[in-house]
Amino acid sequence: MSSTTLPDALGHFGPYGGRYVPEVLMSPLEELERAYSDARLDPSFEAELHSLLHHYAGRPTPLYFASRLTESCGGAQIWLKREDLLHTGAHKINNCLGQILLARRMGKHRIIAETGAGQHGVATATVCALFGMECVVYMGEEDMRRQRLNVFRMRLLGATVVAVANGSRTLKDAISEAMRDWVTNVATTHYLLGSALGAHPYPMMVRDFHKVIGEETRAQSLEQIGRLPDTILACVGGGSNAIGVFYPFVGDASVRLIGIEAGGRGHRLGDHAARFSGGSPGVLHGAFSYLLQDDQGQVGLTHSVSAGLDYALIGPEHAWLHDRNRAEYVSISDADALTAAKTLARLEGIIPALESSHAIAEAIRRAPSEPNHVYVVNVSGRGDKDIDIYRENMPELDPDDSASSEQRGDAG
Ligand SMILES: *Cc1c(COP(=O)(O)O)cnc(C)c1O
Repeated sequence: MSSTTLPDALGHFGPYGGRYVPEVLMSPLEELERAYSDARLDPSFEAELHSLLHHYAGRPTPLYFASRLTESCGGAQIWLKREDLLHTGAHKINNCLGQILLARRMGKHRIIAETGAGQHGVATATVCALFGMECVVYMGEEDMRRQRLNVFRMRLLGATVVAVANGSRTLKDAISEAMRDWVTNVATTHYLLGSALGAHPYPMMVRDFHKVIGEETRAQSLEQIGRLPDTILACVGGGSNAIGVFYPFVGDASVRLIGIEAGGRGHRLGDHAARFSGGSPGVLHGAFSYLLQDDQGQVGLTHSVSAGLDYALIGPEHAWLHDRNRAEYVSISDADALTAAKTLARLEGIIPALESSHAIAEAIRRAPSEPNHVYVVNVSGRGDKDIDIYRENMPELDPDDSASSEQRGDAG
C-alpha cells in the first residue's frame, strides 16, 4: 500500500494506530469518521476552511531564508517555515478551524478539549468564540498553576476551564477526563483533540488539517529555491506539526525527514520524552504506538522544559515512518533547546517557542557538516508563551533578581 493512502480502513499505520477504546466510544468515533469522510468529498467544506485559514488565521505563512543563521553555522542553507506567525501564535489553529467546521456540520454545539500548557486550549477557545459555540477545556490542576496566563486567556475568550485533580494532574489526566465527558454528552458534544493522537480517525484527520504546512512548503521551495529541500526538521510532541510538514514529502525519496523529540535533562525514565530511544510499543488514549512505560507497563512520567513535547506516546503515523526508516528521530536536551532559542533571537530577530527551538537546535548541530544542503525547519510557534521559562534560564539577561524569583514558582 502506498504510504499516501494510509491509514487503512481501521485506522492502522502498519501495526500502529487503531481504536483501542471502551465500547461506548465506538459509535461516536464511527459517527465522526463518517462525518469527516463526507466533509472531504464536499467542495464547500474545503472552500470554507481555506477561506478561514487565509482571512482569519493568516495563511499562507512565509518560507523565510535565515541568512545570518546560515552564515553563522557555515554549512547548509537554513530556511524557516513560519507557523509562529499564525493567529494564536502556533500551528494549532489549522486543526481547530478544521474540527470546528466539522462539529458544526455534525450539528454539535458544545466543544470539549484537553490542554497541557494551554496552547491547544487557547486555540480551541478562539475558534469556539468565532463560531459562537460553548467551550469546556479540561486542564490538570498542576498545569493550571503553572500556566495561569493561558487559563485567563481561555476565560477571556469565553471558555470554561475545568480543573482535573486526578493522577499527576497534568495533560494525560486531562485527556482521560475529556474522554469521560464525551461518553456522557456525545449527542451535543464534539471532542476537539489537539494532536495527531488518540483513536482513529483523529490521527488521520489532524494530519489532514495540518498538511497545508507541507503543501505550502513544497510550492514555496520550488518557487523560491528552485527545488525541493534536502532535509525537513520538525519537533514532535504528539506529532501534529511534524506530520503536517512531512506528509506531502513522504513520497519524495530525496527529501530526508527528521523529527526531534524532547531529550529533557537525561536518559532515565521520567527525565525526558524521547519515545523512540526510551520507549516501546503500547497503548495510550486509544492508540497503539511507541510509549514511555515502566517494567510493569505503567505509563512512564515524562519531562521536558517545553510543555508541548511532554507526552508519553508519539503519534502512530510517526511510529510507522520510523519503523520503515522513512523518517529519522533524534532528541535534543532542554539545555540545547534553550541555547538555540537565544541564537535564533540574536541572529534573526525571531523568538521561537521552546518546542520549535528543539528543531532549530538540531539544524544548528547538523548544518556545518552539510554545506550543499537545503534545510527547512518548521517553526511551529512563537516564544511569547515561554518568556517566563526563558527568563528563569537566562539569569544573565535578567539581573533584577526580585522579579525573576517571583516568577520562579510558576514557570518550573
Ligand atoms: C503544541 C505544540 C507543539 C507540539 O505538538 P505537536 O502535535 O507535536 O505539533 C509544538 N510546538 C508548539 C509551538 C506547540 O504549541
